Amino acid sequence: MSLAMSSPTPPDDTRKTDDAVLPVTAPVLQLVGVRKIFGDLAAVDGINVDIKEGEFVTIVGPSGSGKTTLLRMLAGMESPSEGYITLRGELINDMPADKRPTCLVFQSLALFPHKTVGENIEFPLKVRKMPAAERKARALELMRLVRLPEHYYSKNVMRCSGGEKQRVALARAFAYDPDVLFFDEPLSALDYKLKKALEKELKDLHRESGKTFVYITHSLEEAMVMSDRVGVMSRGRLVQIGTPEEIYTKPATRFVAEFFGELNSFDVRRDSQGGWILDDGRPIVVAPTGEAIGDTVTVIVRPEIMRFVTGPSTADNLITGKIYNEYSLGSRMQYQVHAGDKVYLVEAARAAAPGLSSGDNVTIGWDARDAIVVGG
Ligand code: ATP
Repeated sequence: MSLAMSSPTPPDDTRKTDDAVLPVTAPVLQLVGVRKIFGDLAAVDGINVDIKEGEFVTIVGPSGSGKTTLLRMLAGMESPSEGYITLRGELINDMPADKRPTCLVFQSLALFPHKTVGENIEFPLKVRKMPAAERKARALELMRLVRLPEHYYSKNVMRCSGGEKQRVALARAFAYDPDVLFFDEPLSALDYKLKKALEKELKDLHRESGKTFVYITHSLEEAMVMSDRVGVMSRGRLVQIGTPEEIYTKPATRFVAEFFGELNSFDVRRDSQGGWILDDGRPIVVAPTGEAIGDTVTVIVRPEIMRFVTGPSTADNLITGKIYNEYSLGSRMQYQVHAGDKVYLVEAARAAAPGLSSGDNVTIGWDARDAIVVGG
């Protein structure tokens, strides 16, 4: 497919004057209308995003949403069918992976199995013909950066644990001194505790190195811990991109909100008086929105916002029901409350958990300002 015929106008920053690219104020990576078509499937369907120098951006989405395809285009393993990808203002749509100043770290790590930790890390330096003593000094420096003990330098990489191999792969990626590091679910094969530790280490490493990181994962939790910005993909599209705080408190769609896990949701319609009603006609208090009479929206109340209303306390919206079951979530307790044919979830910090148990009649509620309203 002809790029010139089918794609949007190239970003201004890539337009050339007689002898130079104008001006270098471009983000490190810029995607404009990027699509990837396989047969009749748009695996990536019109992505527009700017990634700033030194940012840690994570793309999350369910299986099949197009994350890997997007990353493969960024890393140079696929070319976009349409649109533009620029790196520091230079169009790189068809630039092969080994010509890009980028490096991809993936789950399988691709380490050289019969070589030592040091040899693995030094590989890119050897290719660049760096003298042996200098190579070793750099490898040891990188090992310190990724928190590998110095004596691992001569250890066979296959005798390292999963977490240590991960660190070797990271050090080797840094040895390339790339402008941008891409990560394809590098932690997904590790056990929970190690994964949690490495998430924080990666964030520290990002801060210490000052490099730009682009990371993909299924796990929003992982994305929230590490990233400056999180992009949520669904069916090839970037549904929302924002800080972890924005994604959590202001999800653009129900899909984004649901990606965080369980929630209470209510489909409501603006009635002729300008109030809001549920599908059974009961009124509900919703914080002011721009919706017109007859419009519908979804009101989302996260389980940690829903609360038991007891004693003199009250809330804008109240529901009476019965506790069906309670679940321990570690530091929090979750309660399932049945009211009519509906099920609601309420969470409370364990320390502040009310002395309630299955079978108790309860009133639960929330204030309109604490709910999230997304388009119908
Ligand atoms: P996962 O998290 O499971 O890896 P993903 O979000 O990374 O999924 P992709 O691997 O990018 O998703 O796949 C997106 C869609 O494109 C899927 O429907 C997949 O089957 C399809 N796809 C990916 N690569 C190809 C290909 N080379 N040929 C045909 N279809 C492909």
